[in-house]
Amino acid sequence: MVKWNDFFKRESALAREISTASGGTRRNTPSSGVPSVSEESIIHALRQAGTKEALATSKLLKRGIIHLKLVPMDPLGKGAAGRYYFGSNKILLALDKLRSPHEAAGFVAHETRHYLQRITPQTYRRIHEFEAYQWQRAADATFQLSDQEILQLCLRSKPVLTLEVIRSINLYQNRLQRN
Ligand SMILES: [Zn+2]
Repeated sequence: MVKWNDFFKRESALAREISTASGGTRRNTPSSGVPSVSEESIIHALRQAGTKEALATSKLLKRGIIHLKLVPMDPLGKGAAGRYYFGSNKILLALDKLRSPHEAAGFVAHETRHYLQRITPQTYRRIHEFEAYQWQRAADATFQLSDQEILQLCLRSKPVLTLEVIRSINLYQNRLQRN
């Protein structure tokens, strides 16, 4: 069992995560008095959404195939609402960016799609992001972007991985194999 703190220290040093920002994707302003976000309330919201994407996400969570970690804020200080770590089953949500269990459910579905894509830093493309946003929309009725708008979002926000980052990841992996 990997300790989360060690995990983040190691992973963040290598920028192996992909993050999902919460800004710019909403049309509604936050409402007050929303139920608190917890793993239970997220699973409930996923079941309420009832789409195949939402139900698949809730099953993976419930069975412990996906490990969800709720933290007060993005540990990398970049204001991400959700993060998925390449090659892992770990998803992180930053509570300061989430206004409701429904919104959180959307982010979990987004990151779960990345888990199911089996992406690596080398294979990660905008199409993966496009699909992930479609899953997010299927799990969160307040996420109202059309396919065309999602495409625009993907085009202006990705890719995040530069060749330099990929090289550093390869160096790191080679070093691990030698040790
Ligand atoms: Zn994504």
